Amino acid sequence: MSATYAHLTAAHRDLLARSETLARDILAPIARRGEPGKVNRELVAALSAHGLVPEVLEAGREVPALTLCLVREGLARYSTQAETAFALQGLGAHPILIAGRSEVVDVWIPRVASGEAVAGFALTEPDAGSDVAALGLAAEPDGGRFRLSGEKVFISNAPDADIYTVFARTSAGAGARGITAFAVPRDSPGLSGESIPFIADHPIGRLRFDGVPVPADHVLGEVDHGFGVAMRTLDLFRPSVGACAVGMAQAALDAAVAHAAERQAFGKPLSALQGVSHQLADVATRVQASRLLVHSAAGAHDAGITPNTEAAAMAKLFATETAMLAIDVAIQVHGARALERGHLLEHLYRDVRGTRIYEGASEVQREIIARQLFRRAGRGS
Ligand SMILES: Cc1cc2nc3c(=O)[nH]c(=O)nc-3n(C[C@H](O)[C@H](O)[C@H](O)COP(=O)(O)OP(=O)(O)OC[C@H]3O[C@@H](n4cnc5c(N)ncnc54)[C@H](O)[C@@H]3O)c2cc1C
Repeated sequence: MSATYAHLTAAHRDLLARSETLARDILAPIARRGEPGKVNRELVAALSAHGLVPEVLEAGREVPALTLCLVREGLARYSTQAETAFALQGLGAHPILIAGRSEVVDVWIPRVASGEAVAGFALTEPDAGSDVAALGLAAEPDGGRFRLSGEKVFISNAPDADIYTVFARTSAGAGARGITAFAVPRDSPGLSGESIPFIADHPIGRLRFDGVPVPADHVLGEVDHGFGVAMRTLDLFRPSVGACAVGMAQAALDAAVAHAAERQAFGKPLSALQGVSHQLADVATRVQASRLLVHSAAGAHDAGITPNTEAAAMAKLFATETAMLAIDVAIQVHGARALERGHLLEHLYRDVRGTRIYEGASEVQREIIARQLFRRAGRGS
């Protein structure tokens, strides 16, 4: 056993190895058959058929954070598209799982877990990204239901998802205290959208709500308490974004080590040049530190140490910044060949960029960590 995963149980190591094997041998070929920027339903179905989505999504049970992280790391190492499809099923369905009425949970969680339905998480708006509390998509009471009007943008899996968790404004001028979460099926009247062409092979789009009727029993949690539902979801998912980054960084490092050992320059392999090998040593150290931060934040969540906001922020910040560096160094070690369309590193370079922005940009993670630092010192608000 390598020391890399010595802190994990045998069951967790097996899960990671199974995720890697599935990604490499079964899911990557299915991912390659998909249309870039569109939901690949064959891939979503395969993730469920091989048990990975049911591993994390089951009605009546909290999502196990470390399991989520290990599957994301294993998938990202061999297929970022499979990793994205897996993660989005969890992200879109999690608010329903933790805050949905039983009627909604019983319909949608089994369908998402089985891969029959695709889920989406709709928080961001054209005028509210990092500043989530500024969101303005209106939800107005209308008899025994609500009507949603406004726009969401950069929503992964939109407009193809079958069920969206939508965060909407129910109390004007109340900031974070006036937001409500809703489960909104795609076939709701007045809901439309389109894909956004994107840097990565990531299905993402815009959603328009034109007086979309949503029954009152589709409210997730309590009216005006949706911000907490969003934050509980992000506290769980941020370390797992870090795990996805660790998988990508490890793939880049593996490629760089193989290439440096093989490629001859000046009569010897690149690995014999200390300027190359020491860069790889630094990357390897940072990747392992990222992994440990991710597993520690996830472990805290599973141990019921919540909110784990600060640990989650540290894990996401460090792992995503490290992955960006790891992929950049790997490209440098490869030279021009890594920039050819279709090269693994060209693909990773495009895929990794979003991880430093979504679910809170790196600067937002630093804000979260800094606020905790000063609060603990009795100097914060
Ligand atoms: C690949 C991808 C997938 C996504 N999927 C989803 C999804 O499924 N659902 C969803 O709701 N959204 C999704 N998003 C949107 C994402 O959550 C937002 O892009 C993100 O919250 C940032 O918002 P913004 O792009 O509007 O940037 P802005 O909020 O305009 O911020 C721009 C920049 O300003 C800086 N900044 C912002 N706040 C601070 C601060 N407090 N201190 C210092 N600097 C700051 C940061 O550098 C930031 O990148 C996705 C985005 C990407 C890239």
